[in-house]
Amino acid sequence: MRWTAGDRSNIDDERARPGLGVGGGVSIGLGGLVLLLVLSWATGTDFFSLIGSPGAPPSGAVGTSGRVVSSPAEEQEVDFVDAVMKDVQQTWRDLLPGQYQPTKAVLFRDAIDSACGLAQSATGPFYCPADERVYLDLGFFDELRDRFGAPGDFARAYVLAHEVGHHVQRLTGIEGQVRALQREEPNATNALSVRLELQADCFAGVWGHTAARPGRAANGQVELDPGDLEAGLQAAAAIGDDRLQRMATGRVAPDRFTHGTSAQRVEWFRRGLTAGTPDACNTFARETH
Ligand SMILES: [Zn+2]
Repeated sequence: MRWTAGDRSNIDDERARPGLGVGGGVSIGLGGLVLLLVLSWATGTDFFSLIGSPGAPPSGAVGTSGRVVSSPAEEQEVDFVDAVMKDVQQTWRDLLPGQYQPTKAVLFRDAIDSACGLAQSATGPFYCPADERVYLDLGFFDELRDRFGAPGDFARAYVLAHEVGHHVQRLTGIEGQVRALQREEPNATNALSVRLELQADCFAGVWGHTAARPGRAANGQVELDPGDLEAGLQAAAAIGDDRLQRMATGRVAPDRFTHGTSAQRVEWFRRGLTAGTPDACNTFARETH
């Protein structure tokens, strides 16, 4: 994948912001403690270590100046996220003229308060409809490579394009309609979530279609190399609910799927990729289930 570093106007760098341990005093309330306990139990990660002991500096090596402690490799990742966000958003601006409104990727470490509640690194990247921002801890990219076996730039780009896909759903009113349906039909909540997620995968494929056009790198745009798409499909397969559940619990519970199986994710990513238009992404049509 070829890309050019830009002005970082597509990201909101909050890596230096102290997380939960702000001020040394920990006041997360009983609900927060229960949440940490549940998260620690469910994932095997000690989330209590994230908040640190009272008086200790928050994890994430934040200096008193509030400047972020980073490495050249991490700075390159920041430039990468900015470049991909820019490219994905330009694609949607072209596809939805007059309708697309820009978003940003909020980069954080460990934990951050979003309009959707507390964002934890362990939650993975997500889109918050309430503040219309994408949230990402760069550490997820390492996890994608080491834990999910999906290395490569395009696997990372796919994750970002999927989250921008949720932003498109927000802007077009699809997300609002689905939430309303979920309130009406609580039993269908997970099934509707799956369709929403698969559509975001398809939207990521739509961007892949654009980015695969030759000659883009010469214009400073993202350009995919041969083999990148395979990496994207691998990423889609790697983070299917069936795979994630099996890794977490050793078994699969389809009624609890909220993202779709690996095969479904690959299928919808491929549909968007082939068609290059959001019209190919109607995961809500009757015949898809
Ligand atoms: Zn999603």
